[in-house]
Amino acid sequence: MNYRLEPLLKQEKLQQGIERLAQEITTKYGDQPLTIVGVLTGSVIFLADLIRQLQMPLRVYVIQASSYRGAATTPDKLMMNSELLPNLKGQQVLVLDDIFDTGLTLVQVRQRLQGLGAAEVATAVLLRKLGRQQVDYLPDFIGFDIPDEFVVGYGLDYNDQHRHLPYVAAVKFDLDDPASGGPL
Ligand code: IMP
Ligand code: MG
Repeated sequence: MNYRLEPLLKQEKLQQGIERLAQEITTKYGDQPLTIVGVLTGSVIFLADLIRQLQMPLRVYVIQASSYRGAATTPDKLMMNSELLPNLKGQQVLVLDDIFDTGLTLVQVRQRLQGLGAAEVATAVLLRKLGRQQVDYLPDFIGFDIPDEFVVGYGLDYNDQHRHLPYVAAVKFDLDDPASGGPL
């Protein structure tokens, strides 16, 4: 499939957004201990940059999660591997994900972690795609609102590529290519 990448959020802007998020998170939690849970793989760069801006006592973990979308009549199912998690009972948890698209993944991850006994499960996303949400929930911390375009870089992939780009780019598909129906 033919496509090109068009820069959307430059490195410097991303860093400014992450500094702002760190301030907002610090305002909420102060010096209280916090357990960060990053959703693999898309959140790894966001996670690494954000946690270095936080000063409270911090534990950092990762989970694997993805939601399979069924037909309109079947509920969405979450595949979540929480083997790497510690006991969350009574903990303040902050889940990090790369992007809030339909919102189905993050909402289900949050429910699961609440089910493990966390005192509170808040959420932070680097990006929110406008006009795509299918859930009645908003992340507590949002880095940037972006238009409804498929994006890569800074952790986000297209067909497992481009995660290592230091900036966020929109994927522009070649509409003359009959094989190009977009990624979703
Ligand atoms: P959800 O639709 O909010 O459940 O999003 C689930 C996952 O889809 C995200 O965590 C990303 O891994 C992936 N995703 C959604 N939109 C994009 C995008 O524009 N680029 C790359 N991955 C995306
Ligand atoms: Mg993801």
